[in-house]
Amino acid sequence: MKRAPVAFLTDRIFLEHDTGSHPENARRMTATTDLLAASGILGRLRRIDARAATSDELALVHDARYVAALARAAAAGGGWADPDTRITSRSYDVAAHAVGGTLEALAAVLKGDAETAFCLVRPPGHHATPIQAMGFCLFNHIAIAAAAARRRHGVERVAVVDFDVHHGNGTQGAFYADPSVLYISTHQYPYYPGSGAATETGAGAGRGATINIPLPAGCGDDAYARVFDEIVAPALDRFQPGLMLVSAGFDAHFADELADERLSVDGYGALVARLIEAANRLCDGRLLLALEGGYDLVALPWCVRRTLELLLRDTPSPDPLGLPAHALAASELGPLIEEVRQRHAL
Ligand SMILES: [Zn+2]
Repeated sequence: MKRAPVAFLTDRIFLEHDTGSHPENARRMTATTDLLAASGILGRLRRIDARAATSDELALVHDARYVAALARAAAAGGGWADPDTRITSRSYDVAAHAVGGTLEALAAVLKGDAETAFCLVRPPGHHATPIQAMGFCLFNHIAIAAAAARRRHGVERVAVVDFDVHHGNGTQGAFYADPSVLYISTHQYPYYPGSGAATETGAGAGRGATINIPLPAGCGDDAYARVFDEIVAPALDRFQPGLMLVSAGFDAHFADELADERLSVDGYGALVARLIEAANRLCDGRLLLALEGGYDLVALPWCVRRTLELLLRDTPSPDPLGLPAHALAASELGPLIEEVRQRHAL
């Protein structure tokens, strides 16, 4: 049987959230699409165009008053949502297109028009809460995709894996009491935004459906692979999702200056390969990844390229950045892994 194509969302509108010299800037998109174009990959993907999310779609996660306030702030010329988070006159429209495009990619995967999807979008989303922009994020595209999968497409259980180096407080909060959305995050801890302790496991009926893996700084490929094998994979197997979503932040790469984890392109690829395997094992391969962080303008494009090569089942191109000088041994994570496994009875 002929395989469905890999869907790829990007759009020139994502360049219009013009943040200047801010680390979350339009060059993240252009550097990535330049590398993908040079690699010959772009022509083999099923292109998805962005569209503006409707207010009903944004309301799947966000409070209508917050959505209206963001629209007003953009219309008034912009400003700062918090000391990190820039709003420009175009930001509302751009962020709404990141959500709408992600929902189009989601529909392609759930209808079988695409095997998997990668959404190259900005601004990122996982810090955005129902009522607040923060941490460079305006609308939470992955959380809205999870809610849409549940309520509009009838998927019973959705797993969200967040390997951005920062904890996705917005996504966690949106589903904290919801047993139908499993949220699993690996993140540097303690670090921005401060949440994501192992003790945060969900509330009420959602208890146990939030799994936080707070990593010390310095974790490299081996440590992350062990965490995925000993916590992420068994948690996904137990949950039996009908769809897997990934908050694909590439700021845990050792070259990224916004944090202190030490993954390589190969190491990120090994995590993505594990998620593809899990999706094949558990939910007919239904997998959508959307970009979150990743600020090094060489590492980010190579991480995205590697991810797409894996989705396309290509032989990966060699990692030009190699390995960091030093990373924590996987054995040093033993006590943390044991604690999280015990807490979640894995
Ligand atoms: Zn991040």
